[in-house]
Amino acid sequence: MSIDMLTIPAQCVTQSRIEELDYNNIEFGKIFSDHMLVADYKDGAWQNPQILPYGPMDLSPATSALHYGQAIFEGMKAYRDANGDVLLFRPLDNFNRLNLSAERMCMPALPEDIFMQGLEQLLKLDAAWVPPTAGCALYLRPFMFATDNFIGVRPSDTYRFIIFSCPVGAYYGQPLKVAIEPNYVRSAEGGAGFAKAAGNYGAALLPARKMQEKGYHQLIWTDAKEHKYIEESGTMNVMFVMDGKLVTPPVSTTILKGITRNSVLTLARDFGYTVEERKVSVDEIVAAHKAGKLQEAFGTGTAATIAQIATIHYNGEDMDLPAIEEREISNRISAELDKIKTGQSPDPHNWVQRISL
Ligand SMILES: *Cc1c(COP(=O)(O)O)cnc(C)c1O
Repeated sequence: MSIDMLTIPAQCVTQSRIEELDYNNIEFGKIFSDHMLVADYKDGAWQNPQILPYGPMDLSPATSALHYGQAIFEGMKAYRDANGDVLLFRPLDNFNRLNLSAERMCMPALPEDIFMQGLEQLLKLDAAWVPPTAGCALYLRPFMFATDNFIGVRPSDTYRFIIFSCPVGAYYGQPLKVAIEPNYVRSAEGGAGFAKAAGNYGAALLPARKMQEKGYHQLIWTDAKEHKYIEESGTMNVMFVMDGKLVTPPVSTTILKGITRNSVLTLARDFGYTVEERKVSVDEIVAAHKAGKLQEAFGTGTAATIAQIATIHYNGEDMDLPAIEEREISNRISAELDKIKTGQSPDPHNWVQRISL
């Protein structure tokens, strides 16, 4: 089979489970669409991509991903436009980032065709699972993990790639109370913080839980050397508006290169705002707040697009930020991004890929 000509064989469900889905009341991450894409890497090549009914799989207890953590993932959303078509937002960027993560974790690159055609065919089959309701979407979870049944420490010789999906409701998260983390680190220079690796998430759960016990939704990571510079907010990139300028830390080996981050910065520049990608110190944030110049703070990521930050805690003090309604830059960009993703605004950067059903 030539990968170029690939049309992925599908074994379809005999009975869809779509009746389980209440479009008006979708719980995040609990109901999965009918089908999944599966491909396996062995003998030095990706083989046998196929679409199967969503369901459990057999795994040996010695599956190496479970022991040594060669596991990476992506997260993306498909939306429905006014004509009922299904739209993907920047899927090639997710594909490229998956392979960047794969390289860092010593895993094989996935061919573009398997990712892109897999997505397209899955979405055609499971189009009914893309909610028509405003603000809702079908969340897609591509991921790859090591499958050798072997408990010696070495890169696995075999891997599995899967894409499955689940409908998600509108993000009505309340504005976040976050706290700057003074002790734990998410990633260090030379580490794997830029990769979307499962282990990065595992190691972040305890620090996040401890912050939650102190009454904060999320933490803001600081650099591993001095805890002096801002990195990210939980599992989102983080941005500030100070004195009318949009400021965010530059991407590096420690910061994940968010697609939402890039989209927000691009639109901000389009709109004519001043954008600065540079180191942001905790001291600068505190000083800007004292001077009344810290106007906005928010996280960016696929799940929320823009998650507003209401309060930032540092060193025993809560800094309360201006009301969400007063935040010109983030509100304007958030609204425009939502419109682009759902086909209601022009798409000057060719971010949207339409799936013809
Ligand atoms: C996925 C992720 C983001 C956001 O990336 P998007 O492409 O915008 O969804 C930011 N930070 C971390 C640590 C992430 O894992």
